[in-house]
Amino acid sequence: MALSKDQILEALSAVPNPLGGGDLVSADIVQWVATCESNVSIKVSLPRGADRRVREDVRRSIERAVHTLAAGEDEVMDRVLVEFVDEQNKEPAPARQPQQGEDLTAAVNARYIIAVGAGKGGVGKSTVAVNIAVGLARRKLAVGLLDGDIYGPSLPTMLGLDAMDQQVHQGNLQPMLVHGVKAISIGKMVDADKPLIWRGPMAHGAFKQLIERTDWGDLDAMVIDLPPGTGDVPLTLTQSLRLTGAVIVCTPQKVAQDDAVRAVRMFQQLGVEVLGVVENMSYFIGDDGKEYDIFGRGGAEVMAQRLNIPFLGAIPINMALRANSDAGDPSANFDPRTAGGDQIPRALAQVVDNLEKQMALASMRLGQNRPTLNIS
Ligand code: ADP
Repeated sequence: MALSKDQILEALSAVPNPLGGGDLVSADIVQWVATCESNVSIKVSLPRGADRRVREDVRRSIERAVHTLAAGEDEVMDRVLVEFVDEQNKEPAPARQPQQGEDLTAAVNARYIIAVGAGKGGVGKSTVAVNIAVGLARRKLAVGLLDGDIYGPSLPTMLGLDAMDQQVHQGNLQPMLVHGVKAISIGKMVDADKPLIWRGPMAHGAFKQLIERTDWGDLDAMVIDLPPGTGDVPLTLTQSLRLTGAVIVCTPQKVAQDDAVRAVRMFQQLGVEVLGVVENMSYFIGDDGKEYDIFGRGGAEVMAQRLNIPFLGAIPINMALRANSDAGDPSANFDPRTAGGDQIPRALAQVVDNLEKQMALASMRLGQNRPTLNIS
């Protein structure tokens, strides 16, 4: 039994309004409350000009009130998400841009459709896409993984698909079941050694076939590895499906952040919620056990904070992770014996944990066509 909205509102009516009389509910500061399993999402509106200190005060008071309520009711509480509706990225119901070309969503029977994007190539976008897909599958979710990175499809190598033939049954592509994931890669359909010039409409056509002509079956989550950047092709692919949200992969350096900010803005402009940022290659642990912040650890986390989007976690640079990717064995990243210790399994578990929560919250918000609750 999760906490009910009424219980939460009652608890928040006991929190005094820091800007004057009354409490957070009677002063109309709490706008909207939603719950999903052990997660609670609360939208808050403060008068313009309320400074950072007041916001933090309100955020902390709300979190404290909900956690105290949960403890008193013996309920497990994973996450209390407090959003300020007047902040960037948190406007209620960003209008989705009209689909370019056809909307392919109906062809995928998935509870969540997640795109993994990046501002530029080489930051580990495909590595993160593969490992979150495998991580979700290890939690017993039915996961599809679509390699849409037509510029440099990596799944054949990272999942060990090279030796496998693409099967077709009654005219439909059969996804390859590897590491608990149903995978399809455009790399298995085009000659990897021949350069192809992709334009938006052409990429949409290829993407459409991969989505519509694949026997995906029922899925909990579909993970899509998008091409890097914010050009015509990633933009077109993003518009082809109604996404639950997007994950942005970024390395810590300033130059990588600048590109990642553009990717975040692209999704936001398309009305796609950014579920969070993953900081990849965050730091390096040497043989001496010391941690080296080669690229300026924490840079992507600070960027996420600045943009007011969730931070899903940091993945260090790790030789075993690179070797397992080259060997097509991502499952090895989840076992300390084959992942060069427990730092990679721990980092991946944290990213997958946070992503699961953000997916649930985003899907709840989409389903409820936000904001729906009027408080009188
Ligand atoms: P992108 O999809 O952004 O172009 P990839 O996921 O293909 O990047 O990663 C580029 C290379 O870096 C790959 O060889 C991959 O194995 C390696 N790599 C990615 N993340 C890490 C990491 N955290 N530690 C070590 N190697 C990594």
